Amino acid sequence: MLEVYDNRRKRKIIVFLSDDIPGVLMNKKLVTELNEELEQLKEQNLLWNPKTLNGPSCAKPTVDGKNVVMLCSNNYLGLANHPALKKAAIEAVEKYGVGSGSVRPIAGTMDLHIKLEETIAKFKHAEASLYYNTGFTANSGAIPALLRPGDAVISDELNHGSIIDGVRLTKADRYIYKHKDMGDLETRLKEVKEKNPNRIVIITDGVFSMDGDIAPLDKIVELAEQYEAVTYVDDAHGDGVLGDHGRGIVSHFKVEGRVDFDMGTFSKAFGTMGGHISTSKTAKEFLLNKSRTWLLTGSHGPATVAASIASLELLMQSDALVKNLWKNTNYYKKRLIELGFDTGESETPITPVMTYDSGKARKLSIRLFEEGIYALPIVYPMVAKEKARIRTMITAEHTIEELDLAIEKIEMIGKELKLI
Ligand SMILES: *Cc1c(COP(=O)(O)O)cnc(C)c1O
Repeated sequence: MLEVYDNRRKRKIIVFLSDDIPGVLMNKKLVTELNEELEQLKEQNLLWNPKTLNGPSCAKPTVDGKNVVMLCSNNYLGLANHPALKKAAIEAVEKYGVGSGSVRPIAGTMDLHIKLEETIAKFKHAEASLYYNTGFTANSGAIPALLRPGDAVISDELNHGSIIDGVRLTKADRYIYKHKDMGDLETRLKEVKEKNPNRIVIITDGVFSMDGDIAPLDKIVELAEQYEAVTYVDDAHGDGVLGDHGRGIVSHFKVEGRVDFDMGTFSKAFGTMGGHISTSKTAKEFLLNKSRTWLLTGSHGPATVAASIASLELLMQSDALVKNLWKNTNYYKKRLIELGFDTGESETPITPVMTYDSGKARKLSIRLFEEGIYALPIVYPMVAKEKARIRTMITAEHTIEELDLAIEKIEMIGKELKLI
């Protein structure tokens, strides 16, 4: 990165891709254009400059060389650095090596991958489960496979980007309903029915990642049954968090057997990596034959797969971590609310601390990091302009002392910024 004086703008700008590094051959016009776009992102405060972890992801990691309380990781249960998962990964490496050697359909299916899929199905009380490399590729592969021209898809307006991309890849008719608004969903269903599509698929996030609110899946399922629609839920933030032993939103609302596609990820509460979809045997067979993101990408190596099996086995044996997650979450939220903070729509460990003003959200995040607390600002366009906040996320691993320290610093800086 270089700071240079821009004659046209009459001020200094940052140049990200300098063409003075020997050996970097790039089309000059492209470099100029990329710089222009980066500059625009910077002007809108949308430029990422990721911080670096200097060790494991945990409740009190070292980030950019500084020991901080982590409040922005999805490692809800602390499994990313759990001894049982590490042991499983190490043993798998000894026995199977580090790579799978191929894509799943050719030579990249080890007995470990089969065991993982069986374990997911057992955990989810499903007939069958399919494992993808990530949650993103599960959505971007399965959704276009399920929707053909003449079908219709109805999606919550706040669904995750991977669902949006999956939907963009279909040739089906697309409809959006207002966030969690069942009246609006029914209006869309009626509108769609009039066009007599072959297949209607309703897609929703289980837990919405910006506000931490929960989709009314019980009502969605009822409407789907009434209008003969297929249901697809993305439970990335509900896996390991909601339901009996962390079985997710389907268990939370007791709608087991009534949701067609129960999709989720290992990259959050389960502590590892990989997407999964639980469904019927037939739908699994169909998806693995039709999802390009399953067919055309190398499969995960043994360490990740074995650790993922271990994470589900651990959860099936004991719900202690899930209980602790909720104990910590309830304690933290109660204290913040008592101090006068607004935690928005949150119903889960995702706890926004509303600042409304985007400048204050940024300032709060920067000041917190200085004080040893790591939480990120969430501002427009990730949320509406007047709904800026920092998003804090609680885990089972946090000690009461760590939570108290976080609360103390949020209170102190909250007062500096006149939030309370
Ligand atoms: C994180 C997330 C994903 C992506 O999962 P990965 O396994 O990390 O690719 C998909 N959907 C939702 C709702 C998410 O929050």
